[in-house]
Amino acid sequence: MIYFNVSPVTGDEMAYIGEAIQSRLLAGDGRFTKMCEAWFEKSLSTPTVLMTTSCTHALEMAAMLIGIVPGDEVIMPSYTFVSTANAFVIRGAKIVFVDVRPDTMNIDETLIEGAITPRTKAIVPVHYAGVGCDMETIMDIATRHGLYVVEDAAQGMMSTYAGKPLGTIGHLGTYSFHATKNYTSGGEGGLLIINDEKLVDRAQIIREKGTNRNQFFRGMVDKYSWVDVGSSYLPSEIQAAYLWAQLQHAGAILADRMNSWQAYDRFFRASPYALELPTIPEACIHNAHMYYIKVKDLEERRQLIDHMRDQEINAVFHYVPLHSAQAGRRFGHFQGEDRYTTKESERLLRLPLYFKMSGSDLERVCEQVDAFFK
Ligand SMILES: *Cc1c(COP(=O)(O)O)cnc(C)c1O
Repeated sequence: MIYFNVSPVTGDEMAYIGEAIQSRLLAGDGRFTKMCEAWFEKSLSTPTVLMTTSCTHALEMAAMLIGIVPGDEVIMPSYTFVSTANAFVIRGAKIVFVDVRPDTMNIDETLIEGAITPRTKAIVPVHYAGVGCDMETIMDIATRHGLYVVEDAAQGMMSTYAGKPLGTIGHLGTYSFHATKNYTSGGEGGLLIINDEKLVDRAQIIREKGTNRNQFFRGMVDKYSWVDVGSSYLPSEIQAAYLWAQLQHAGAILADRMNSWQAYDRFFRASPYALELPTIPEACIHNAHMYYIKVKDLEERRQLIDHMRDQEINAVFHYVPLHSAQAGRRFGHFQGEDRYTTKESERLLRLPLYFKMSGSDLERVCEQVDAFFK
C-alpha cells in the first residue's frame, strides 16, 4: 500500500522527547518551546512567534487579535480548510468568499477589491500547496483600505514570496505542524507569526488564558491576573521536543520532498496526456508540500481514484469548497461568479508525497496514472 501521507520522522525525536521527560518540566513555554520559537524568529527574521496547539488555534488567536466583532466581514477563498473560516466565524464574522485563480488555486487577487464593503475587516490569503499568493497586490489593497491581512500559511513553512518567508508578510501569519504537513510537532501543533509589533503583548495574554503571566515572568508586573479574553493555546514540551528534532533537519526534509516533487513534475510534463500541472509563479519559491494533477472532470477523477485504489495507491482529492457546505452557506456567501473554485476543485487530484518516500513507490504512482490514461 502506498499511503497518501505518512508523518515525518527524522530519528532524533525520541532523544529530545526523552530529554523533555527527564527534565520533569513539561508545561508549555519550557526550554524546547523557547528553542523552537528562537529558531523561527531567526529563520523568519521576525521579532515574535508563538507556538500554539494547532494552526486552527493560531487562526483563532489572530481573529481575537485583530478585534473581529459580530458583523465584520472577512474575505478569503472558498477553496480552503474549514478552520480558515471557522476561526473568524467563532468571533461573529461573516465570511465573503471570492474565486481562486486556476493556475495556483490561490485567491484571485484581482477580485478582492470588488468584495470590500464598509464592514470588511480583514483579508485572509491561503497559500495553497505552499505556493505564495500575490502578496504584493494583496498588501497594497489592504493598505489602501486599512484592512488587516492574516496569512493562512498552514502549508507554507520554508516557502517564500519575493524573498520573504510565507507568513511574515501580512500583519499575522499561521503555520500548521499537523501530521500531514511538511514538519510536525508530533501530530498536532501550530505557530502564530506576529509581524505587527503592536499585537505582540496582547497575543501573549490571549495565549495564556487571558492573563499577564508572561509579563509576570519577565518581571514587568509583580503578580499575574486576568486582564483580557483568552484561552489555552500552549502546546506541551513533548510537542515542542518533537518539533525541535524536525527543525534540526529542516533543510533535509525540504530537499527530500523537493526531489519527489520534481520527479513527479518531470514525469507529468513529459506525459502525452492532457493533464494540468501546478504553476509556480516567478516570485514564489515553494516547499514541495503537495503535488497535484488536474484531470478532465469529477467523473474522470472518480475513475482515476478507483483505479489507484485497486493498485493499492492512496490518491486523494482536496477541499469541497466551503461556500457549498451547509455551514458555509450559513456563515458566508460567495461574492461574484464561481468561475473556477468548484470546477477546478473537482478536477484536482493529490498524489502521495511525504518525507522519505521511496523512488520505486514514486515510479509506481507515475506508472499507474499513466496506465489509467492509456
Ligand atoms: C492544515 C490546515 C489548517 C489547519 O491546521 P491544524 O494545525 O490542523 O489546525 C488550516 N488551514 C490550512 C490551509 C491547512 O492546510
